[in-house]
Amino acid sequence: LENGERHWALIVHGGAKEIEPDKEQANREGVLRAAEAGRSVLAAGGSSIDAVGSAIRVLEDLPTFNAGRGSVPNAAGEVEMCSAIMDGADRRVGGVSAIRDVRHPIDAATRLLPEKEVLLAGEGALLFAREQELELVTQEQLHTLQPYDGEQAHDTVGAVALDMDGNLAAGTSTGGLTGSRVGRVGDSPLPGCGLYADNRVGAVALSGDGETISRVAVASQIMARLKDQEPDPAIGDALAELPIVGGPEADGGGIVITRDGRFGWAHNSREFAVALINSQMNEPRAWLRKAEAKTHG
Ligand code: ASP
Repeated sequence: LENGERHWALIVHGGAKEIEPDKEQANREGVLRAAEAGRSVLAAGGSSIDAVGSAIRVLEDLPTFNAGRGSVPNAAGEVEMCSAIMDGADRRVGGVSAIRDVRHPIDAATRLLPEKEVLLAGEGALLFAREQELELVTQEQLHTLQPYDGEQAHDTVGAVALDMDGNLAAGTSTGGLTGSRVGRVGDSPLPGCGLYADNRVGAVALSGDGETISRVAVASQIMARLKDQEPDPAIGDALAELPIVGGPEADGGGIVITRDGRFGWAHNSREFAVALINSQMNEPRAWLRKAEAKTHG
């Protein structure tokens, strides 16, 4: 590090999915806005936990993404969401699953960080959000725009950050998979599956086929691989297990920051909107698929 300057880094994603041409701009702008929100926290010396929270709150408010507002309905036509955040400094985790009616599930997850419990589900999660006086919204406000069309849309959102103090954090938020059973819990709130953070190694957040990601424990696979692989192949090799275990439709995407600030992202979904920024960049960069990054540098 030059002159003892303290570095920071942030990467966000808008879900492993297919982005139709008319949605490209909204996806690109959304991840860029989330990256800007995280940047202002980190550049001011804020924590990686706060940066992940701010970035994810932006994505939860945008109807383009299946998280918070814009969440997809389950089999009963209702929105149940999952979210988690993990602190790489002490490996505390806060998670909520199958939670209804909260505007920002990531805030409920964050409030759970200091508590003993790692994961609250359903009614208990909503009760906790009420106790914490978090903002509640109606079902209509949550799933305004995504009527169930029989398609399984994957698009959890996620963020990973490294702050000036060298602390890593990872977070996820999702409306889950369209048409899932009531009470279904995906990978997103499960440490070792949808996310993980450990200051000694790195931090990771996933999106994709939640059941298969959980069966493969993709986040923990990536963490193990980071010990001797670069982040892109570490993610890519772990994701390659998904279709083997879950069949040809099982795909996903992941983002990583290593303890020394290297970025990684990879996906085997068709698209995966990503934006990243660090203390050496003037502004965030965004891509909709890895092929774009390879062609345009
Ligand atoms: N992984 C999420 C879930 O299964 C869905 C997604 O990434 O879109 O809940």
